[in-house]
Amino acid sequence: MSSNFNLDDSIRKIEDFPHKGILYYDITSILTNPEAFSWCIDQMVEYYKDKKIDAVAAVESRGFIFSAPFAKAMQIPLILVRKAGKLPGVTLKKSYQLEYGKAEVEIHQSDVPQGKNVLLVDDLLATGGTMGAAVELLTMGGANVKHIFGIIGLPFLKYADKLPGIEIKTLIEYE
Ligand code: IMP
Repeated sequence: MSSNFNLDDSIRKIEDFPHKGILYYDITSILTNPEAFSWCIDQMVEYYKDKKIDAVAAVESRGFIFSAPFAKAMQIPLILVRKAGKLPGVTLKKSYQLEYGKAEVEIHQSDVPQGKNVLLVDDLLATGGTMGAAVELLTMGGANVKHIFGIIGLPFLKYADKLPGIEIKTLIEYE
């Protein structure tokens, strides 16, 4: 499939959500468009197929949607990074700062592949706080995170500053 597909046409933009003054980029409009969804997954596979990725980790919940077909296509394990309190087994936890308040993410300790290269995936990168916490969790668990993927990047919110030494790939960026 062509690498110059117009993904922007498939991303719904909502003004003043969830707060006044925020422009929200919605990926549900990618999911209802099979051509756009397939294109995203194909781009991921094409980009990472030769990068020696051993496993993919995804951030709840929209990261799950893109990483599951990717894991299937690559035939690699998928590790879920969940909001606190959802995983039944022995977990590692990390809390991080949100714009207002705090959040906590968790992984099953035994899901982390020791010394392996894990690609971390979410739908959108903004301040990098969520991904930063997920990187710490995976690193605590013994994995190497050298690659991060997001469908959408908002570089003006400086996500790269919180993710030093990690190669970040997005399919579309907005200023
Ligand atoms: P960060 O932690 O500031 O980088 O924010 C990224 C997290 O917030 C991701 O899990 C996103 O799903 C979510 N998020 C932030 N802004 C948006 C948006 O405009 N659209 C969809 N998700 C967003």
